[in-house]
Amino acid sequence: MRHPEDELAELESASLKRNLRPVDSPQLPHFKVNGETLLNFASNDYLGLANHPSIKAAYQEALEQWGAGSGSSRLICGSLPPHRELETFLAEAKGTSAALVFSNGYATSVGTLSALLQKGDTVILDKLSHASLIDGARLSRATIRVFPHNDLTKLEKLLQSTTEKAPPHSRTIIVTESVFSMDGDISPLAEIIALKQKYGVLLLVDEAHGLGVYGKNGMGLSEHLDCSSDIDFHMGTLGKSAGVAGGYIACSQPYRELLANRARSFIYSTAPPPAQSAAALAALKLIHSDEGTQLREKLWANIRYFSELTQSPLASSAIIPWHIGDSASALALSNKLQHEYSILAPAVRYPTVPRNTARLRITLTAAHSNDDIKQLYHSLAAS
Ligand code: PMP
Repeated sequence: MRHPEDELAELESASLKRNLRPVDSPQLPHFKVNGETLLNFASNDYLGLANHPSIKAAYQEALEQWGAGSGSSRLICGSLPPHRELETFLAEAKGTSAALVFSNGYATSVGTLSALLQKGDTVILDKLSHASLIDGARLSRATIRVFPHNDLTKLEKLLQSTTEKAPPHSRTIIVTESVFSMDGDISPLAEIIALKQKYGVLLLVDEAHGLGVYGKNGMGLSEHLDCSSDIDFHMGTLGKSAGVAGGYIACSQPYRELLANRARSFIYSTAPPPAQSAAALAALKLIHSDEGTQLREKLWANIRYFSELTQSPLASSAIIPWHIGDSASALALSNKLQHEYSILAPAVRYPTVPRNTARLRITLTAAHSNDDIKQLYHSLAAS
């Protein structure tokens, strides 16, 4: 029998052990960790909505009206108004005929891919796809093919060989992200769409880190590139820019119905608390509003400011990887920033990123001030 202590010791000696840190204040740019006040460059709350007064008020109001929990899976207890209204809004915002909301983004990816695909089908993933997409693909038992990150030539080769021998009635889905979660770069969506159309396959795009950051109405890179209508499955989370929690798929009505019948993480799981869905809807409406535009502008001003300070090309998103290489050095730098400069910039290591590509994953938000960003820069420069 394997002992957990031995496994933990192995992780520790490879600098791969993770520790949960106790946080004693809300997830604001300045927050309290283990009694110390730190400057937070770890959060995906890119617009600062997790602590926005109107989102908290929407949560409280819905809590009073609809109660704390949903009671059961929606297939058992049904869909409350906050669930239905959130889905209607998402479908309209994404330009699809329908949307389905899950408890979180992880459950959305796993449930969707495992429901849409079966043995004999093929899923073609970007190499840097999020773990939830990989897990969903694996669970489906479809053939998994992987193309090097953003490599369109290799993607086309895979499409050629897959579609040549695809059995009739089988499904092929390309899966990618709009903004990549650990590198912060973006995918060539227009080119991927051209390939998807050429080979007659489906496309799923995970906008977890694009929502709120890109697009005239903040609806993501697909809105920014004006290619929403060419994407079959818009996947995303409501736990990052929207500041709450939940996941969604926006797609056609028949696919939505199929997912509600087949996605096991939807069927066999209690529906999101109605107040959570109401707060997420309030957040999406805010992202769509003039205030959302102003927050997005502030976020991009912060991204520009950090890029200028570090004399780097403008970053593609709010995620800035500070590349180190080996896990021990990345961890040492993260610890030094925390203990000497009161800055939280987490080290991201294998298996979250490939071996020997450990980095600090720095995230900027609209809630950071210029002084916060200056402090980050000076601390990095001095370390
Ligand atoms: N997709 C991507 C690209 C993500 O970064 C994440 C969150 N780490 C998810 C999906 C999962 O979303 P959630 O946190 O809502 O489960």
